[in-house]
Parts: sequence; structure tokens; C-alpha cells
Amino acid sequence: MTDTHRKDLPTPRAIGAPGRVKEVASAANPIVKDIRALSQKRHRDETGLFLVEGLKLVLDGLEAGWQLKTLVVAKAALEGGSETLMRAVSRAVALGTDVLEASNKVLEAITRRDNPQTAVGVFQKQLTPLMKFDLAAGRVAVALDRVRDPGNLGTILRTADAAGAEAVILIGDCVDPFSLETVRATMGSIFAVPIIRTKEADFLAWRAGFQGKLFGTHMTGTTDYREPDYGASATLLMMGNEQAGLTAGLAESCDLLVRIPQIGRADSLNLAVATGIMLFEARRGALSL
Ligand code: SAM
Repeated sequence: MTDTHRKDLPTPRAIGAPGRVKEVASAANPIVKDIRALSQKRHRDETGLFLVEGLKLVLDGLEAGWQLKTLVVAKAALEGGSETLMRAVSRAVALGTDVLEASNKVLEAITRRDNPQTAVGVFQKQLTPLMKFDLAAGRVAVALDRVRDPGNLGTILRTADAAGAEAVILIGDCVDPFSLETVRATMGSIFAVPIIRTKEADFLAWRAGFQGKLFGTHMTGTTDYREPDYGASATLLMMGNEQAGLTAGLAESCDLLVRIPQIGRADSLNLAVATGIMLFEARRGALSL
């Protein structure tokens, strides 16, 4: 690894110490190895960090005030004169973030993809504690029981963002919201929707003091999902696991179990699709749809 500070980069207007710009050409570099390891949940848990691919998503994260620890950028794109990339580098350096100018090979190794994006950000994870979460009347949030599919979770976070939901609560053994696949599927919404992780027992304890209405979605629900007046109070929509639906304990904790009517041969809807339908119905008043 060469460790040269690029003199052609704009001087950062740093408040604290500016970040350093380094060049890395080899995937065997220890910093690159640490970044690559973030594809594993164990390393994300240990470090509290996660990876974000693509300049737009990195800028979304910065805009939302999330802490960018390291920015990896494609050396070739920088040398090719990409102004947006250059601006992102300046901004990162000014914030005290270290920047790595990487070869294409290094970016391929980090993202495990051919044709990698020109920027990859290493961000600090952020979670909201359930005990600090309060849902006001007229607002909507989503609770997911043991969601297992990263694509589903990413799509749900993106949809929750689009529908103006206040939070997504992950109950029980859910897939990691900060996995590369989930973050990809959120298309930037990972930074927009507060995420809460909780055990089922802790959720049920919190639920006992929840003043709003808890609507469970269930294949055996007897109420059409279009019947309730979701705007009347704080609304929490609860969705079940892809295979097993809701646990008996969670289903019992609901004020009402609703069903989305289906015709055709499918047993059920995809979890993310069902969540989208519920969210946009519950937010119909707010969205004037
Ligand atoms: N075999 C599972 C069951 O019987 O519950 C199907 C689970 S479904 C793939 C995943 C989740 O999506 C369900 O637990 C529920 O929350 C929601 N869902 C899917 N289709 C639905 C429908 N027609 N009505 C209400 N909820 C639905």
C-alpha cells in the first residue's frame, strides 16, 4: 500500500482533524481485509459497522447525518475527473473520514461483484431502542415477526420510507438489516427509517403499554384489511414470518387480525407485497389516495 496524501484534492475546511486520503492497490491490504469482513454478520456485530455501495447511497447517508467511517472510491473514476466523486471525497475528508483510493480489483473484492460501483462507504450502524419509541396518533409503523429474507426486509424498509412510516420494528430472529443484500434492496431508505430490534417477550411487554391499535395480518383473519379506520389512533401493522406467519403469542396480542382478500391459486402474498398493501391502505388518509 502506498500512503500518499493527494495534493490535487481540494483542501478540506475541517473543524476537527481532516481524514486522510490513501491509495490501496491490493485486496490483501489489512484495511481492505477488514472492510471485506463486513460482509459477515459477526464482523458487523463486533465493529458496529456496515457497507453501503454506490455514491448516491453514500451521499444519502451523509445527508441523513449517519457517521461515515471510511470512504472507498475508484481511483480510475477520480482520475477520470468525476466531479461528484471528487466532491464526495472532499466532504468526507472535511468530516474527518479516511478515504481510500482503490483499484478496480480492490472494489471488486470488497463488493464481491464484477463492475463494482465507484464508491463504497463504511458507516456506523444506528438502531433505535424500543423503549424510546413512541408512536403518535395518526402515525403508522410496521412490526415484522422473524423476517428471514434480506430482499424482503430491504424492500419493506424502502416501502416504509415511501409511505412515511415512523419505524420498522424487527421482532425475534430477523435477518440483519445491515447486510449488503438488505442495504442494496433499501435503495438508500436504510438511512430514512428508524429500525428497532427486539425479542418477542420485550415487544409484548412494550405492547402492554402501547396506547394505539395493533393490527396483525393473518391468513385466518376475518376482517377485510380495508375495513378498519387506521387514521383514528397510532397504528402498528404486524406482519408474519415468510414461512410460518405470526407466532401464536404475537397474533393474540393484536387488537384485530386482518386479511387481504385473494383470488387465484396462490396460498398467500409475498411478505413485502403484503406489507406494501397494508402500509398504503393505512396511510391512505395522509397520502390523500
Ligand atoms: N404460510 C404462511 C401463513 O400461513 O401465515 C404465509 C406467510 S406469508 C408468505 C407472510 C406474511 O405476509 C403473513 O404472515 C402475513 O403477515 C402477510 N400476508 C401474506 N398474504 C396475506 C394476506 N392475503 N392477508 C394478510 N396477510 C398476508
